[in-house]
Amino acid sequence: MGTDEAATRQKTAPRRRQLSVDDYVQGVLEGDRVILARTITLVESNSAAHLETAQEVLKQLLPHTGKSIRIGITGVPGVGKSTFIEAFGCHLIEQGHKVAVLAIDPTSSRTKGSILGDKTRMELLSREPNAFIRPSPTGGVLGGVSRKSKETTLVCEAAGFDVVLLETVGVGQSETMVRSMVDFFLLLMLAGAGDELQGIKKGIMELADAIVINKADGDNIAPAQQAKAEYNRAVHYLAPATQGWQTKAYTCSALNNDGVAKIWAVIEAFRQQTTASGVFENRRRAQMVDWVHSIIKEQLLTQFYSSLAVQQALPGIEADVANGVLPATSAVKALLNSFENDKEDK
Ligand code: GDP
Repeated sequence: MGTDEAATRQKTAPRRRQLSVDDYVQGVLEGDRVILARTITLVESNSAAHLETAQEVLKQLLPHTGKSIRIGITGVPGVGKSTFIEAFGCHLIEQGHKVAVLAIDPTSSRTKGSILGDKTRMELLSREPNAFIRPSPTGGVLGGVSRKSKETTLVCEAAGFDVVLLETVGVGQSETMVRSMVDFFLLLMLAGAGDELQGIKKGIMELADAIVINKADGDNIAPAQQAKAEYNRAVHYLAPATQGWQTKAYTCSALNNDGVAKIWAVIEAFRQQTTASGVFENRRRAQMVDWVHSIIKEQLLTQFYSSLAVQQALPGIEADVANGVLPATSAVKALLNSFENDKEDK
């Protein structure tokens, strides 16, 4: 075929062949990266038309999921998350693992911009055939981001990724959400900055299975060691994040790839210990059940805010509440009534 002919064919050919449920499932199970990416786009779609296909695909993939270790990684912007994930991911790939990195950016659903996605990140890792990096899903409420990330985790597991890293910016509510999706939760910190400066609340330290003080290099080695000792003392006063597991602090230099292998050794020890005690499996079972409830919340919220009656009533009611003429509880009652009536009319 001549080049011109090929070009014409390309122009007139449909942009993308539509895939059947079987195409998606087979493609993912074979580890086909193009189909993997398309399946994730499908499960991330907000369109009602895609929901049914996505759910059927997920149902068929479900028996092939669950075999990875799911690791949450958090820390304030600039702490070195992407540098750490690059070093950590490359280390895992050297050990023969397949690594999926999913970013979860709670701000993207509000501002439509993304803290995590703005820069070129993890250049080495993104060139590795055994790595798969996916930016944060956007759109919808926080619960929507959570559902999509959870389902994407399952799809990656079915595609043979045995380590899933869920990265989130440490800005508050997203940590609790990520904790509810992972087996192991890693908190990246810096030495020298006070906890408050780092925006890290005690509650977030309580979620962590390991505290890693990054940038332990050059002049920063001694302060990092000191911070490690302080955090090791502090965690003794906190409730354990995982039953039977003692959270400890470690130092590392993601930039120099120093101390990164040790973190993986800690995670492997965690998996071994919690699997033996049954804590690993119990947490996963509880997470699945919790997930049902978060989907209920997400779907009810979406239905509520997309109801025409609610949309019409909302501005007036908000103004009344802001002006102090309507109590918040009465406002909600009125809105729920509009919502119920709207449903009955349909
Ligand atoms: P993120 O915003 O948490 O993803 O942080 P980045 O990975 O983008 O890192 C922020 C800055 O810190 C970059 O300039 C990195 O080169 C630097 N950085 C990351 N890890 C280290 C480290 O271990 N040591 C030093 N000295 N710098 C680091």
